[in-house]
Amino acid sequence: KGGTEVTKKLGKSKGKLAKGVVGGGSFQSMGLHPPLLRSLLVRGYRTPTPIQRLAIPILLSTPPRDLVGMARTGSGKTLAYMVPLVQRLGGRHATSFGARALVLIPARELALQVLKVGKELARGWSGGGGDHAGDTEVKDNADAGNKKGQSLRWGLVVGGESLDEQFEMIASNPDVIIATPGRLLHLIVEMNLDLRSVQYIVFDEADRLFELGFATALHEILFKLPTTRQTLLFSATLPKNLVEFAKAGLQNPKLVRLDAES
Ligand code: ADP
Ligand code: MG
Repeated sequence: KGGTEVTKKLGKSKGKLAKGVVGGGSFQSMGLHPPLLRSLLVRGYRTPTPIQRLAIPILLSTPPRDLVGMARTGSGKTLAYMVPLVQRLGGRHATSFGARALVLIPARELALQVLKVGKELARGWSGGGGDHAGDTEVKDNADAGNKKGQSLRWGLVVGGESLDEQFEMIASNPDVIIATPGRLLHLIVEMNLDLRSVQYIVFDEADRLFELGFATALHEILFKLPTTRQTLLFSATLPKNLVEFAKAGLQNPKLVRLDAES
């Protein structure tokens, strides 16, 4: 209910924001690490979409909050969770054991798309040269306290990859795993994949995850995650079974629900 009201207000100011006015929910006002902000702007993401404008500040707030984001297909939900993910992971590889973030998504093709978006966002952090010249102040900031930082490692856990490949990938200690539930559960069982290090988990296209019969797998995966995690659920619709899943898996989540036209 609250989300809808906010959306209506945002709807009115849309034109102004689209012209790039700073403040009032711009990417520039979100306190993002300079390399992340630069990645967004360089890739043409100049103004956040309504779901991004609402969800990103909630997801970056302290202490971390769980969130249910409901908005239509094409409303920009990927960046709504991927920007906070990259920011929270500090954009760099951590040598500590195990993945720190997990994205569950219903299909291999979707996983590949999300992987591409994530890698692009995190690219500005990679040391040595960088992909865009002329940003010394950005580089200094990104390297503070992390002189020898390696770029974030991404792992794909989807059907169609050989199990040997998946084993090697897991052994490389990825920071983020993007997975379809069936294959992930398989790795949990067959390879003892440990998810206790996961701090940030996203259920993307959650309505489709349920339509495709992943409910049991999702509950089993939930059970393997630490209780201290930040949990996000994004969906175009919110059927009853999903509300129940959210009640079981999320703690006092903020609901951001946008009108169909947003
Ligand atoms: P959803 O997951 O809600 O269906 P996506 O995250 O796939 O939507 O985004 C839909 C399209 O909108 C993509 O092509 C994406 O690149 C584009 N997009 C997302 N956010 C922005 C933005 N802030 N500015 C411009 N284009 C955007
Ligand atoms: Mg999507």
